[in-house]
Order: sequence, then structure tokens, then C-alpha cells
Amino acid sequence: MPQEIAGDKIILTADRTLMSDYHRNEFLGFGTCAPPNVIPSWLYGWLFFPPIKTENGIPVAAPYGLRKIEAQLLSEGFSVLTVAPNHLKKYISDTKVLGIHVMDPFGLGPASTTFASVLKKEPFLAQYFRALLDNPKIREAKKRGLKIIVGGPGAWQFRYRSKFVEEYGIDCIIEGEAERVIGQIFRAAINGEVLPQYYEVSVKETPGLEEIPDITGPSVNGLVEIGRGCCRGCEFCNVTLRPLRWYPCEKILREIDVNIKVGSINWCCLHAEDVMLYGSKNTLPNDEKLINLHELVVKKCEGICWSHCSMAAIASKPKLFSKIAEIIRQKQPWWGTEIGIETGSPELAKKVMPAKAHPFPPEQWPEVVHTSMGLMHDNKLIPACTLIVGIPEETEEDLIKTIELIEDLKHIRSLIVPLFFVPLGRLKDEEWFKETAMKELHRELLIRCVKHDFYWIDKLIDLSFAEKWYRNLIRPFYRVFVGIVKYRAKKAGIQ
Ligand code: SF4
Repeated sequence: MPQEIAGDKIILTADRTLMSDYHRNEFLGFGTCAPPNVIPSWLYGWLFFPPIKTENGIPVAAPYGLRKIEAQLLSEGFSVLTVAPNHLKKYISDTKVLGIHVMDPFGLGPASTTFASVLKKEPFLAQYFRALLDNPKIREAKKRGLKIIVGGPGAWQFRYRSKFVEEYGIDCIIEGEAERVIGQIFRAAINGEVLPQYYEVSVKETPGLEEIPDITGPSVNGLVEIGRGCCRGCEFCNVTLRPLRWYPCEKILREIDVNIKVGSINWCCLHAEDVMLYGSKNTLPNDEKLINLHELVVKKCEGICWSHCSMAAIASKPKLFSKIAEIIRQKQPWWGTEIGIETGSPELAKKVMPAKAHPFPPEQWPEVVHTSMGLMHDNKLIPACTLIVGIPEETEEDLIKTIELIEDLKHIRSLIVPLFFVPLGRLKDEEWFKETAMKELHRELLIRCVKHDFYWIDKLIDLSFAEKWYRNLIRPFYRVFVGIVKYRAKKAGIQ
């Protein structure tokens, strides 16, 4: 039986590429950025973004950002239900407002544009987002007055797709941290008032820590935010425009409790732009706060990963980093994170990310990367590293330095993912980097990264899928998939 809710009904959802636990491996979520490829799409979908389990169409876990909006609306007295995308028909007939969470709805994010340019097809995440809005039940509900409100980190992409917005009748797109404004917008939608098509949350409307509610339902893979914002100010990044705030440990532990008690998820992905800087007001890690947080989290959880951290913070305090690794590895052999290298060129670093190396000067960026990667290798933190290809002002000399750095990192357990430049942050008015602008050195860089990843990928699959029986069971599928990709690459001349 569908779950009943009273009052003016709001449903929240996201497409299947977001409503998945990625076989409990957050980093498999990267696979949603790829287009259909060397294996059938149904098999690829099952391997990289299986649909989340549901009870009567209610997902056992949902994306963290959607949970925050759900919590905020509940705290303001709205009747809200989060529903899995393939179960909307059970609930939508008397819904007044549908809220949709988006990350990369049109595949314009750096990873998906890169894949799409190389493979010349639309990425899965864009296909599934469109399929969600093509749902005939949503179309029907729209005719009787349903309002559709979209928000999340990928909301900026709608600015490039105004025809889509019109065609699918999207009423309002909210960009930015919405806790302080979401209630007002949903209330206006319920009252049938005209909504602003785009609502950009201003810096003044950014919520303070005390205004951000705790999630009330479990988040996908136990992801829990530990802070918002970043102090490094890279030119190409949206995050940098927001103020830096760290949550107190009590709040973080309360949200972990929600995941454990409501969702039986006893592991946790600590989320911040730089987990190493937890509790710090500048670019130097705060030993006491970081150790305390990890000791508390390890007591509660069976496993930890980090969403992001920075090279400079690790390199600035090697002893602290080893101490944190020791705490985390009491219960697991390794952990993972995403981390930005972006370039191997000190000159380019100085121009577009002058504080990325801080407290070291940008001139030392390649050494900072090298030191940090060595520390991660020794302490069993496995990074998925990103590089930006085609950033404005990039010269051949810059590309050569990046290629040299990748060569230097070949013995370090890691993945290195080159991403085409996407105009965001202070560079939002610059040109997109397209495959047609690729020069020989860009190709060389991409091939070096592919070779690096091919060298490490089988070892990483073995590590990732070693711990539990069901993981061992699905491991061969990934090995076969990688085998096919390697074979195809070899045929294309990449040895
Ligand atoms: S360090 Fe990362 S999050 Fe911070 S501004 Fe630079 S790219 Fe953005």
C-alpha cells in the first residue's frame, strides 16, 4: 500500500542515476557520467547504478542534498514524501509540488562532457533525467496543475537549456544553498502563485550553521556533510563563492545516528570540500579537531570514506595524516577520496588556483602533489584524482609539465581522470573546451592517464570488492568490463 501523507502533498525525487547506492561504493557513481558503451546498457546500469531498494516505493536511502531539503520542508510543517523515480505513479495523482534533485542533469559537468566528447553519445545521467520528466504520470499531473521545482548542485545547467525548461514545464529552478528560501518557494507553489523561473540564492541568503537542519531519513551510502564552503578560491570552481562553515561533531554524529538507526547503514562518507581541514579557519589542518572527529566517527561506524580532500593539507601535516590513517584503518584496510591535481604546471597553478598549494607557494605545486600522493600511497588512502584539460591560458609548456607529473606518479596507487574545462565559478563567461580544440599534447595527456588507470584498475577492483561475499560475487563482472575496455583501447592503438 502506498504510504499516506496528510495536507498539501509535496513529493521529492531524483532520477535513477542519483537514487542508487552504487553497490555501496560511492566512487562507482562516476560511471553514470559515461554514455552507453562496450556492454549492454541494462548490464552497465546494474553494475554502476542499480536502483535503490524501496518499501512501497519509498527509497531506503536518498541523495544527501535531497534529504536536507526534505528535512527543511518537514521542519516548516509541510507534508513531504521522498519517492523513488520508478514508483512516482503510486503517489503523484494528488501531489501539488514535485521537487527534483539534480547533479548533472544534461551531462554538462566536467566528467560527462569529457566522456561524451570522446565517445560522442549522451551520458546515462542525462538520459535518465530526461526519462524521469518523460514519465506520462508527471505529464498528466502537470496538466492538472502540478508544479515542478528543481534544485541541487547541477541547477546551473538549466541556464543552458531554456527550451527544455519550457517544453517540460519546469516552474522554478533554485541555484545555491536553499534552506532559508525553500519553504517560501514551496508555499508559493502550493498557493498557485507565479514562481520565479530561476532563483539564485544570494550570499546574504546562505544559511548559517544553526539554520541547517539535520537529515531525518537515511542518505545514500551514509554520506554526511561535515562542513560547507572552501577557502582556497580557485577561479574555475563554484564552491569557492560560498562562505566556509564547519558543523560541530554533535551534529555530524546525530546524522550518522539517523543513518544507523533508521537506515541500518553503519558506514559513513564524510563530505566536505576538504575533509583534512575540518574545524580549521585557514589552510592548515587543525590536529585536535580532525583527530577528535575521526575517533568519534570510528567508534560509531564500521567503515569510513572521504568525499574530497586537498593535496596541500595532506602534505602540510604528514604526521597528522598518518595518525588519521591509523584511526581509520583500525576497521578497514584502505579508504578512498576524490582530490584535485588539475595541472602539473606551477605557472598555470599561479594563474588559476593560487591558493590551492597553500601553505606552500604555487611554484611548489608539483612537489606538493608528489609528496601528498606518496603519503596517500603509504597510508592506503586511494585517490581518484582530477585534471583539468583546456583551461583558458593553458600553454603547451603547461601541458608538458602536467604530462611529466603524471609520469612521476605512475607508481602511486590511484586513478587519474582528465576532465575537459567547463566554465564555472569566476571563469563562467569563458569558452567550453571541446574535443575539436584538442591538440597533440592534449591527446598525449589523455593517453597517459588511460595508461596509468589501466595499470592500477584491476588492483583497485580487487581491493574494492574484497571485503564481503556479495562483493566477491560481483567483482568478476567489473574485471570483464575493464577487460573489454582494455581490449578496445588496444585495438585503438593504446597499449
Ligand atoms: S580547492 Fe576545490 S573546492 Fe576549493 S576552490 Fe579549489 S576546486 Fe573549489
